[in-house]
Amino acid sequence: MKFLITAGPTREPIDPVRYISNRSSGKMGYAIAQAALDAGHEVTLISGPVAIEAPANARVVRVETADEMFDAVHANLADIDAAVLCAAVADFKPARIASEKIKKNDGIPAIELMPTRDILASLGKILKKNFLLIGFAAETNDLEKNAQKKLKTKRCDAIIGNRISTANPVFERDENEVVIFCKDGSQRALPRMSKTQLACELVKIFSSMK
Ligand code: C5P
Repeated sequence: MKFLITAGPTREPIDPVRYISNRSSGKMGYAIAQAALDAGHEVTLISGPVAIEAPANARVVRVETADEMFDAVHANLADIDAAVLCAAVADFKPARIASEKIKKNDGIPAIELMPTRDILASLGKILKKNFLLIGFAAETNDLEKNAQKKLKTKRCDAIIGNRISTANPVFERDENEVVIFCKDGSQRALPRMSKTQLACELVKIFSSMK
């Protein structure tokens, strides 16, 4: 199979030196990319800025912003069998980017935000889409309700739900515990395991869904 995988955070610039971002390490997406390669699949990895090394045989496209990730995903859809959108894309970006560094002495800045484009939802809207579409949902509360809502509104085949809690901090960690919500209404909870093991399980599940 040919996988397109997004991973890591995005950075939304405020001025030439500052940005808005989040705590995503890219570990889950990179582990899925490695597991897919190990299983003999082809991988294009569209990655936000992360501190980890990319799998040797992946085709890697590096991006910074949500807009760049959106464009890179849409430019790499040809012949894919599965899109696994694992990236923690910023939901909002500054409406304007200051061309010069904002000076502390100019007072507290009011930074107006605007929504970024939703990459997952944009893929769900493609008519006659012939690839598997997998999204992720990291939630601190109401995991099932929120994951089911995303499954429907973003028209995915499955949502991998992460319950973020002190017992499952997820971000920057090596382990994860997820529940898979499928569009046929079925659910499957996987026990807590390393992101490497989990990635292998997920790749097996994605392959069986195609
Ligand atoms: O709505 P929420 O951001 O929680 O949805 C998470 C899922 O949507 C993830 O799969 C994430 O990669 C994807 N997403 C996206 N583009 C955005 C926001 C989220 O692809 N702008």
